[in-house]
Amino acid sequence: MLKGTGVSTGVARGMAYVLADGSRSLAPQRRVGAADVGGELRRFDAAVARADAELLALQHEVRERLGPSQADIFEAQRLALKDSSVRERVLRSATEGRINVEAAVSEVFDAYTRSLETAPDGHLRARVADIEDVRTRVLSALAEERGLSGGRVPDRAIVVSDELLPSVTARLELDNVQAFVTERGNRFSHSSILARSLGTPAVAGVASATRMIKTGDRLIVDGVAGVVFVNPEKSIEHEYDRLVADLRSTKEELRHLVDLSSVTLDGTTLPLLANVNKFSDTEAALLYNADGIGLYRTEFTFSIRNTFPTEDEQYEFLERAAERMHPRKLVFRLVDLGGDKTLTYFPLPPSRNPSLAERGIRLLLRHLGVLKTQLRAFLRVSARHPVSILVPVVVGVEDLRQVREVVRQVQDELAAEGKPFNPAIPIGAMIEVPSAALTARTLAKEVDFFSLGTNDLVQYVLAADREDETSASYYQPLHPAVLRLIDSVVDAARSAGRDLAICGEMAGDPLHAGLLLGLGLREFSVAPGQMLGVKDAIRRTRVGEARELARIALELGSAAEVEALLNANRPVRKYDSVSGET
Ligand code: PEP
Ligand code: MG
Repeated sequence: MLKGTGVSTGVARGMAYVLADGSRSLAPQRRVGAADVGGELRRFDAAVARADAELLALQHEVRERLGPSQADIFEAQRLALKDSSVRERVLRSATEGRINVEAAVSEVFDAYTRSLETAPDGHLRARVADIEDVRTRVLSALAEERGLSGGRVPDRAIVVSDELLPSVTARLELDNVQAFVTERGNRFSHSSILARSLGTPAVAGVASATRMIKTGDRLIVDGVAGVVFVNPEKSIEHEYDRLVADLRSTKEELRHLVDLSSVTLDGTTLPLLANVNKFSDTEAALLYNADGIGLYRTEFTFSIRNTFPTEDEQYEFLERAAERMHPRKLVFRLVDLGGDKTLTYFPLPPSRNPSLAERGIRLLLRHLGVLKTQLRAFLRVSARHPVSILVPVVVGVEDLRQVREVVRQVQDELAAEGKPFNPAIPIGAMIEVPSAALTARTLAKEVDFFSLGTNDLVQYVLAADREDETSASYYQPLHPAVLRLIDSVVDAARSAGRDLAICGEMAGDPLHAGLLLGLGLREFSVAPGQMLGVKDAIRRTRVGEARELARIALELGSAAEVEALLNANRPVRKYDSVSGET
């Protein structure tokens, strides 16, 4: 049994599919015969040539869109790509280890980045991100050459990898994936959020998973307890047979809630909306009867491509989603890049602390072309559908004033071209940075609504990286400091007469529903798979009692005390998703 953290509930059983270099490649590690090594090296050379051609094309495009200094990064990457000593080391590694070229590339680049990370020279350390990019590019060229660019995964496989970057998950054939097991990441990593939105069980933080598990091993992944069984004994299999049957019946029990409204025991009805990442998620949102899309994360459209999506491409998917959801409202969030969400074709300056560097709106305001293209797509959809614009990682009023100005310019351009749009499109701010929470009263003058992004808010309030397993125990959504901030934002929004929704992951946990209601939140946006659990909790709550619960929680000293209070006051169903064979 391997232990980790359950980041997406449910239990899955199936065969392991171990990614050779999980965060970058989609190819499994495999052994090759001595006679095949030459062929592997030829594959490497072809992949390098393909990667070089891509880099050259990108260099041109980025020079056009972002300017010459940004484009220089690709020149440096091309030099690293064609470095003859790298080729020699890949050959040696494949020959001596009798491993496929993907695994050899992974080994060589691991050593390369490790040596850079420990270099005394700061310039060398800053090159790590470039070298990582080169490795990603070579591995995806190898995957394409094998016809795997679509990220084909064997049917019913359990994907095991060191880490799952959003750009990799975006390319996997997710319908085939039964579960995820990763060495890195925690509950609030983007891949965990994705797993939950797919309803796919996942366990993260499993040390050495890619060494301990081999492709073809039989696995049981328990996303609730946060454990993985490798080739389990019959008795454990039987134990899980029983559990899977229990889970099914719990799921069935919740199903009757689909057509019921989310109304409290004392008659307060709340909108319950869905968080989605891509067009197909709108199906799940409709399946669970969402009142709208409270958060449309647009990063996915960017991460599945090798270059910037055009205005028409963005428009096409958003328009289709709006059409599906009509007449319900949709909140489109401007692309939130930077931090952990990077794109190979959008190089960012190296940073020692990406979460505190360029991300969200501050990044877009430095790249007005990217911002305007997306705004044009949003505005065009607003011509026929109730769409709002949500601004990520707002720090203060200046961000919003600048965005408003750009929106005005884009509206003028569209009007001049005779393209219709909603001139009064609502603009909202994500409240996910403490400065925004603390100045919400002032921000209210610049926006039409707020959306509480607790995933980031928690990391910034508690100085605990949301992606980092080592600080996971400090990342506490129920910390009284977080609750006090939420309380003050509710107060500010109410006195300014602005709508306030909560779209962070903490809203998706049924255990938190009473507390959040008690704090005054009246609009929840959660992953489709979490909607019924939250609705169930709302329907068991009285607002009066919830207020009292929140009042007590605000006075407590720690997250553990708050959690104990919630557990004592609300029985919650723990298991809410099942997948795998029975
Ligand atoms: C948040 O930060 O709470 C949020 C909803 O946005 P994301 O998880 O995409 O950063
Ligand atoms: Mg966020």
